[in-house]
Amino acid sequence: GRRALGGKTVSTVTLKDVTKVFRDGTLAVDSINLDVNDGEFMVLLGPSGCGKSTVLRMIAGLEEPTTGAVMLDGEVANDLPPRDRRIAMVFQDFALYPHMTVGDNIAFPLRLAGVEPEPRGERVSDVASALGIGDVLARKPGQLSGGQRQRVAMGRAIVRRPGLFLMDEPLSNLDSGLRAELRAEISGLTRELGVTTVYVTHDQAEALTMADRVAIMRRGVLQDVGTPTQVYGRPATLYVAAFLGSPRMNLLEASVYVHLDRYVTLNLGDQSLYLPWNDIRSRAVAHYHGERIVVGMRAEALTPVAPDSPGDVLRGRIRYLEHHGHESLAFLDIGATAIVVDEMGAPLEPPPVGQRGLRRFGSVMQRLTGKPVEA
Ligand code: ATP
Repeated sequence: GRRALGGKTVSTVTLKDVTKVFRDGTLAVDSINLDVNDGEFMVLLGPSGCGKSTVLRMIAGLEEPTTGAVMLDGEVANDLPPRDRRIAMVFQDFALYPHMTVGDNIAFPLRLAGVEPEPRGERVSDVASALGIGDVLARKPGQLSGGQRQRVAMGRAIVRRPGLFLMDEPLSNLDSGLRAELRAEISGLTRELGVTTVYVTHDQAEALTMADRVAIMRRGVLQDVGTPTQVYGRPATLYVAAFLGSPRMNLLEASVYVHLDRYVTLNLGDQSLYLPWNDIRSRAVAHYHGERIVVGMRAEALTPVAPDSPGDVLRGRIRYLEHHGHESLAFLDIGATAIVVDEMGAPLEPPPVGQRGLRRFGSVMQRLTGKPVEA
C-alpha cells in the first residue's frame, strides 16, 4: 500500500445523490450515488457527453454539485477548495517541462509549495525509486521512453502525497500501441502506490482491463457499478448489456414457461429451448413464468454444433462469417432475429478462398450456453 512512500492513510470518495445542472439548464449528472474505496481503481465509463468529466471535476472541486454531497474520507467536501483536497489530477498530455531534468520536474510542485531543498530532494528520490525511475533523474524528458515519461508525470502528481488520483482520458492522445502498454503501467503503478484512483474514459477496453470496478454512465445517470467481470457477465441494464463488449451481446426476446413437471421452455420467436430444471439458466428465468423477457447471450458463450445434434439447440441460418485473425464470427438469422456467434471453440467450415466470407451455409444448430439478462 501507500507505506511504500511513507505517505498518508485512508482516502475514499462517496457521492450522495449528486446532481449537476449547469447554468444553461443542462442536466449533466443526475442523482449519482457512488462509493470509491480506499486504494481502489475506479473507472468512469460512458459515451461522450454522459457526464463523466463533470463527476470528476466535482470530486476535484472544480465544479460544485447543484444538489447532493461529495464526501472525501467520509466528510462532506462540497465547499472545500481544490487545493485543500489532497488530490492530484492527471490530464491527457502528461506535459513535462522539457528544459528541466526529471528530478526537477518531479520536485516542481514541492518547490511551488515552498518545501525546503533537503526534504525536497529526499521526497523526490523516494518517489523516483518507488516508480522505478531513480536512475534517470538527471535526464531531460526528451531522453526518456514514453513509459518513463508517464512515470515522471505520475511522480510529479504523487510527490505531494495526494490521497486521490483523478485522471481524465490520460491516454487518448497516444497511439494505440503505446496506449495498451501504458494502461497496464498506470493501473500497476497506482496499485503499487496504493492510491485511490478515479479514471475517466470512453474506451471500454481501457475500462475493463484497468479497473477494480467500473461505473457506467449514460446521459448523466449511473447505469451499473461492478467489477469488470460483473458488468460484462451480469449487466444491470439492457443499455449496459448492449454497450459493453464487441461483438455486441445478443439480445433476444423470449417468453418463459415453467412446466409443472419441472422443466422450463424459453420461446424465442418460432423456436423453443428446453431447459432442464437443474440447469442454472432455468433457475435464472423461472420466476418470469408467463412473462416476456430479454435474454442476453454473448457470442463466445454460444457453441456451434452439428445440424443433427440433440439437446437444447437453436437453429439458425448463417448469413456471413467475419474473420478477425484470432477468432471468427458467424452472423446468423434465428427466425426474424440476427445473432452473432464466436466460432472459436468449434470452427465452421471456412468459406472458399476468394469469397471473403459471404458464402451461404445450410442450417446449423446453436447450443445456448449464455446467461439470461433480466429485462
Ligand atoms: P466527453 O467524454 O466528451 O468529455 P463527458 O462524459 O466527460 O464527455 P461532460 O463533459 O461531463 O461529459 O459533459 C456532460 C454534459 O454536460 C454534456 O452534455 C456537456 O455538453 C454538458 N456540459 C459540460 N460542461 C458544461 C458547462 N460548463 N455548461 C453547460 N453544459 C456543460
